[in-house]
Amino acid sequence: MGQNSRYDIVIIGGGPAGLTAGVYTSRAGLKTLLLERGIFGGQIVNAPLVENYPGFPEGISGAELGELMHQQAVRYALESLTAEVTGVNAEHPYHVFTTEGDVQAESIIIATGSEYRKLGVVGEERFSGRGVSYCATCDGFFFRDREVAVVGGGDTAITDALELTQHCRKVYIIHRRDQLRATKALQEKAFSQPKIELVWNTVVDEIVGDDKLRSLRLRNVKTGQSSNLEIGGVFVAVGLKPNSQLFSQLVTLDEAGFIVTDELMRTSAPGIFAAGDVRQNSFRQVITAAGDGATAAGSALKYLRE
Ligand code: NAP
Repeated sequence: MGQNSRYDIVIIGGGPAGLTAGVYTSRAGLKTLLLERGIFGGQIVNAPLVENYPGFPEGISGAELGELMHQQAVRYALESLTAEVTGVNAEHPYHVFTTEGDVQAESIIIATGSEYRKLGVVGEERFSGRGVSYCATCDGFFFRDREVAVVGGGDTAITDALELTQHCRKVYIIHRRDQLRATKALQEKAFSQPKIELVWNTVVDEIVGDDKLRSLRLRNVKTGQSSNLEIGGVFVAVGLKPNSQLFSQLVTLDEAGFIVTDELMRTSAPGIFAAGDVRQNSFRQVITAAGDGATAAGSALKYLRE
């Protein structure tokens, strides 16, 4: 990448959405640069086993899947670079400023993903991927016949808890207030599901274990009383933080900071597309992020042709 190099498409973010977009735009012969600040593959590189991505009947490790996606993308002349984007100007052709220099782009695909909000308690990091999970759809299956807890009171927490009842013996929902934030219909489903037990006005102070997670140290915020809950796993569902701050002056974000797109992944700015977990209403799965990436690439190709 030379100083002020010009690209047809700059893709920001090297997870499944960005890498899939790159396969499509590079195979179509467009000069494409993909920028990633960390590891190519995105969040899935932390998943020990991905069992719901088609084509891998025995499952595949997230790290391996991410690496294969990167290899496939660069095979078709995609240029990829480890660099952090520090800004994008709002006039066309777009200038993308990075820690490794600046480039010009006719079109941009934003695929920067989102991060799970953490509880920030002792033991969370230590047992992450070994009892602490942020995705029931991804990991629920590994907790068959176990007792687990979900932390949070929003739609994700309740959806996760309901999904977990399909695998687990018992599911505790630990919520810091005495009312759920989740929609009424979901609340009613949770209240009538005999495997679910609500633990109100309670926060997690510590995640405790030895070679594996054993229990949660809980505190009732009304009484101040501490207790111990023995469980096999905990699903943290306290919201998401989209990686969209850099683009807040460029494209329309929703109240929670996710990029608003139409079904063709078009944002409010011409020639700028968004794909994967950074966009509003993402299903937050590898397969849907990849699908978004392909759609965004198709829309970018059409935009450049026109
Ligand atoms: P959310 O609506 O922001 O809910 C986060 C929950 O976590 C809240 O109950 C909050 O408590 C709790 N929380 C936040 N920080 C916490 C902390 N440090 N310790 C303990 N609890 C904490 O996030 P979400 O549930 O992920 O939903 C995000 C968006 O996706 C929402 O718009 C939701 O409607 C949508 N969604 C929809 C569906 C669906 O099926 N339709 C499914 C999933 C998500 P408080 O309530 O006290 O603030």
